[in-house]
Amino acid sequence: MASALHKDYPPELSAEEEHYLLSNLKDWSIAHGLAVRPAPSFVQPSQDPSGVLATTAPVTLFPSLFPRVCFEEGLAIQTAYNELYSAIARDEEWLKGIVEELIHIDDFVGKLWETHLAVKKEGYVQNLSLGLFRSDYMVHTNSSSPASRPGLKQVEFNTIASSFGGLSTQVSALHRYLLTIDAYPSSTASIIKRDTLHQSNSASSLAKGLAAAHNAYESSRSGRPLCVLLVVQDPERNVFDQRHLEYALLEESGVRSFRLPFQQTLSHTRLESDRTLVYTPPNSRTDSYEVTTIYFRAGYSPDDYLNEQDWSARLYLEKSRAIKCPSVLTQLAGCKKVQQVLATPHSPHLKHFLSDDQVASRVLATFAPIYPLDKSEAGHEARNLAKDPASAARYVLKPQREGGGNNIYRKNIPPFLEKLPETHWPAYILMEMIEPPPLRNVILRNGDVQRGGVIGELGVYGVCLWRNGDGGDSGEVLQNWEAGYLLRTKGDQSEEGGVAAGFGAVDSCCVV
Ligand code: ADP
Ligand code: MG
Ligand code: MG
Repeated sequence: MASALHKDYPPELSAEEEHYLLSNLKDWSIAHGLAVRPAPSFVQPSQDPSGVLATTAPVTLFPSLFPRVCFEEGLAIQTAYNELYSAIARDEEWLKGIVEELIHIDDFVGKLWETHLAVKKEGYVQNLSLGLFRSDYMVHTNSSSPASRPGLKQVEFNTIASSFGGLSTQVSALHRYLLTIDAYPSSTASIIKRDTLHQSNSASSLAKGLAAAHNAYESSRSGRPLCVLLVVQDPERNVFDQRHLEYALLEESGVRSFRLPFQQTLSHTRLESDRTLVYTPPNSRTDSYEVTTIYFRAGYSPDDYLNEQDWSARLYLEKSRAIKCPSVLTQLAGCKKVQQVLATPHSPHLKHFLSDDQVASRVLATFAPIYPLDKSEAGHEARNLAKDPASAARYVLKPQREGGGNNIYRKNIPPFLEKLPETHWPAYILMEMIEPPPLRNVILRNGDVQRGGVIGELGVYGVCLWRNGDGGDSGEVLQNWEAGYLLRTKGDQSEEGGVAAGFGAVDSCCVV
């Protein structure tokens, strides 16, 4: 893909061209909700006391170039990944084996596991689970590592609160709009075309997943109207991303949803004796709703649990008859440790979960080398690699956390480990850095235009609805589809890529 044709991409714009492109981009973004609430560092809360302001989401001016084969492979294997992770979430015994290595050294994982055990003790009353997943990848170009062939490599697999499905649909539409109004210079005409620009239908497709769970829910026949409940963080800067899903759910499937800040769970919901979850909106003409599906956009980070009461709230929701997206077990299936175990060379695990060998080998080809830091032989080798500054420079160290900002990169690994008691090392996994091709783009963030080298991360969404097993029965997948994509682009000087965390921009793929 690094052909001569693409080395000047994106082209320099004259001042006039840039003005035309930017003014159209800014208006389109706000008019179409490609927006975020402003960061406190950008607009001080005292300047917006009633919280009415929004600003354009960080976006790239141009769609980024992405190799077609990699793009198509990422989309094509998503249903296999959905199947894999739903099978893991259904296999409590297998997950237990993994989680038990973590619970004594990772309080957060320990608390989640306790929550599961507490519900198990009373008996789960909901047999269905929903996953709105996102598998993240980068294109690996450097073949100097014998373990890692060039191609699409998975960064991680998200099983909870996979974000940007709403904004992703909008940014791909923005880039198509800019093409339509001739905002891109004619020198890009052979590259940016209607059939190379990929539209992401993630907002609508993820909302259809929520609707599928809602419709599969067997009502308690309480006579109450039914709803989907979004359990959210408060405040939430990325609220419009979530709103796009809510609006699609209402407009395309006629399903009502409500937003409930996680901390208000216990004051606004109640469990009936048959564990029907009832939600009472603060000012509704209807008294209360029966919740069919709980969609967690909070609860993935220890920061969301301020005290024991928040853990009680999570337990309470998990106990309910509502379908969870995700259940605690599904959330745990997303641990980086699970990814590491699956990626272990010659391990039987992938084959155990994916019966089709060809499918399993396609999934296997997307794994980058990942090592444990435990007492095993591989763990011992990895510990030595991680301690040595020269070899550590090729790795990233990851704890069992979500939401960005938790990893330790390259030369920072040895001093970090030095301070950490060795008994806690197995709470982390060591992953080879994926090395994407050098690309350039222009990012608009907080009104600033930033140019330079960038790195792209492709996320592929997946919807999976399944029935959990009971006793000897291992359950079954009821719905499984690929649900659009996300491209996040960050400056190549930044190790992290979180858009919400302030390091990246939403983008769309121009396949080449
Ligand atoms: P989180 O669950 O917090 O998002 P990730 O595993 O996605 O954790 O890591 C955060 C970011 O770090 C990624 O978006 C990516 O930019 C970078 N990153 C993680 N793993 C790798 C890797 N193996 N190679 C290159 N960059 C990586
Ligand atoms: Mg993650
Ligand atoms: Mg990530």
